[in-house]
Amino acid sequence: MVTDEALSAVFKGHSIDRDNVAHFRGRLERRLLINRCIDCGVWRHPPRPICSSCWSSRLEPTPVAGTGTIHLAIFLHQGPPAEGVDYATPYPVVTVELDEQPGLRFTSSVVGAPNETIAIGRRVRLDWIERAGTPLPVFRLAEGAGQ
Ligand SMILES: [Zn+2]
Repeated sequence: MVTDEALSAVFKGHSIDRDNVAHFRGRLERRLLINRCIDCGVWRHPPRPICSSCWSSRLEPTPVAGTGTIHLAIFLHQGPPAEGVDYATPYPVVTVELDEQPGLRFTSSVVGAPNETIAIGRRVRLDWIERAGTPLPVFRLAEGAGQ
């Protein structure tokens, strides 16, 4: 297993703590893990030390199906330098409401689709790309539209 120190080195720029360490370990294996409460079943992201619904501390990092609906979409015309990101074409950032639970949202980008096809309400599915040598969870448009 990767040490905490190695994990922090891999995910430079992220603050890794005891609540989200399992999430980032999962990313290395291309598994999107979201904390789920063992006692009441509620999902929560970003991770917190206790369940926001029943106050249980028994939370389990659990894989999600990776399907959802775009809840929010913005296009960055500038931003921090990142491998594979060229802001000449505005970089899409989407918040996706995951199918597991209303209000359970995960923010990333959409790949493989022209910006004009990326819109609120579009269905997406999770995929993984490599960025700076690290697996990055991203979304692709579902239903075959936009190629
Ligand atoms: Zn709970």
